[in-house]
Parts: sequence; C-alpha cells; structure tokens
Amino acid sequence: MAKYIVLLGPPGAGKGTQAQIVAEKYGLAHVSSGDLFRENLKNETELGKLAQTYMKRGELVPDDVTIAMVRDRLSRLDCRDGALLDGFPRTPAQAESLAQMLQEFDGAVTLVPYISVPEEILVERLGGRWTCRANGHVFHEKFNPPVVAGICDLDGSELYQREDDKPETVKNRIKVYQEQTAPLIAYYQERALLAEIDGTKPIEDVTTELLQAIEKAD
Ligand code: ADP
Ligand code: ADP
Repeated sequence: MAKYIVLLGPPGAGKGTQAQIVAEKYGLAHVSSGDLFRENLKNETELGKLAQTYMKRGELVPDDVTIAMVRDRLSRLDCRDGALLDGFPRTPAQAESLAQMLQEFDGAVTLVPYISVPEEILVERLGGRWTCRANGHVFHEKFNPPVVAGICDLDGSELYQREDDKPETVKNRIKVYQEQTAPLIAYYQERALLAEIDGTKPIEDVTTELLQAIEKAD
C-alpha cells in the first residue's frame, strides 16, 4: 500500500523547507498545493486567475477546485508509490476527500507530522522569506540565507518576496489557519496519525525530529 505523509502546520512553520529535504532524501514526490496554484498563476490558466483572487487576500481557495487540482497531481505516475503533501489538506472537507481518493489509488495517509510554531515567530519567518521563481525553493534572509543574495542556491533563478507574505496578509492567513485548518490537528489525532514536531528549533534539528517520526511510523 502506498504511503502518503501530510505535513501540517501554520503558514511559515517550515513545511516547504522540510518537505524539500525529506522528499529528496527518500526520493518521494513533493506535492505543494501552494506551488501548484502559483504555477497556474505563472501560466495564466483559468485556475490560476481564480486562485489569485483568494490568495492575495490570504483566504483559502474553494475546496472543490483545490481538491480537483490535487487529485489530478496525485494521479500522476510519480505519486503512485506515495508522496509528501505540503499545504493540503487545509480543511476537514479536503481531509475527507483525500482519504477517499487515496483509497482509490490503493494508498492511505500513514503519518501527519504537525510542525508547531507559535504565532509571534511566524510573522518574522514570512516577512524574511525569499522564494525562487523557477521551483519554489525557499530561503530566509536571516535564518537560511542564500549564498548570493537574490539568487537561488539550487537552480540559480531569481528570488522574490511573495505578495501574500506582507504583514497585513500574514495576519489574515494565520486567522484563516486557526479557523479552518487547526481543526485538522484533532482530526488526525483521533485517527492516531499525528506526530507533533517542535518547529521552533533550527532547520536541521527540525529535520532530525521529522525523520525520526517517519522512521518510527514505518
Ligand atoms: P504557506 O506558505 O502559508 O503554507 P502556501 O504556499 O501553502 O502558503 O499557500 C498560499 C495560498 O494558496 C494560501 O494562502 C491559499 O490562498 C492557497 N492555498 C494553498 N493550499 C490550499 C489549500 N489546500 N486549500 C485552499 N487554498 C490553498
Ligand atoms: P511553510 O511552507 O510552512 O509556509 P517555509 O518552509 O516556507 O514554511 O518557511 C517559512 C520561512 O521560514 C522561510 O523563509 C524559511 O527559510 C524559514 N524557516 C523554515 N524553517 C525554519 C526554522 N526551523 N528556523 C528558522 N527559519 C525557518
């Protein structure tokens, strides 16, 4: 049975950073709903245009389109043996749909690492985040600076600051997280899938804790 790992945590917790490291280590597909939306935006698709109206306000894109987009991604060959999900599910309805679609793909969610970080730290993390244009690699001007400012270490593309990482939008994203996504902590706890990880530590220490949780669940 294919195993799917869901990374849960507030915006800025370090989901993308950790997903990148872990996916590479295990040769797992990294499925980031935020990256999928941003790719659609870049390619000016209808989905991208629709998503942008929500993303720029820091609100969630409606469940039906989000679920359809992720389903399409998970049905690709590279996800057949499992994947690391980053940013999906974000609502209980998305979690229910995920469970159903994975059953169809002969898989299941086997672990939900919850990267916990208090709110005060998130604003500083997102305010200093620099994202790469080509592949969404993330850096931080203070906590994880690129070797050359403004350039991605991994693919040489330009780094930019996301429109929705501005303090006003970040505040709304955290509120939306509390209201709509935080209930998933209890949802996965009830299903005995949750593993809480202390996300306030340096990146390498969070990775160590995360890898331990994954190996323990195997
Ligand atoms: P973060 O860095 O906060 O985790 P993401 O890159 O995952 O941000 O998401 C950016 C935006 O994309 C969200 O604020 C939301 O508008 C949209 N989005 C991403 N994933 C989802 C999802 N699962 N459901 C609804 N909207 C989503
Ligand atoms: P998410 O995907 O959960 O929104 P990211 O992985 O994009 O979070 O991380 C948000 C910002 O915080 C990025 O600039 C990243 O470099 C930085 N960051 C990630 N993990 C840590 C950490 N453990 N300590 C300090 N900064 C971190």
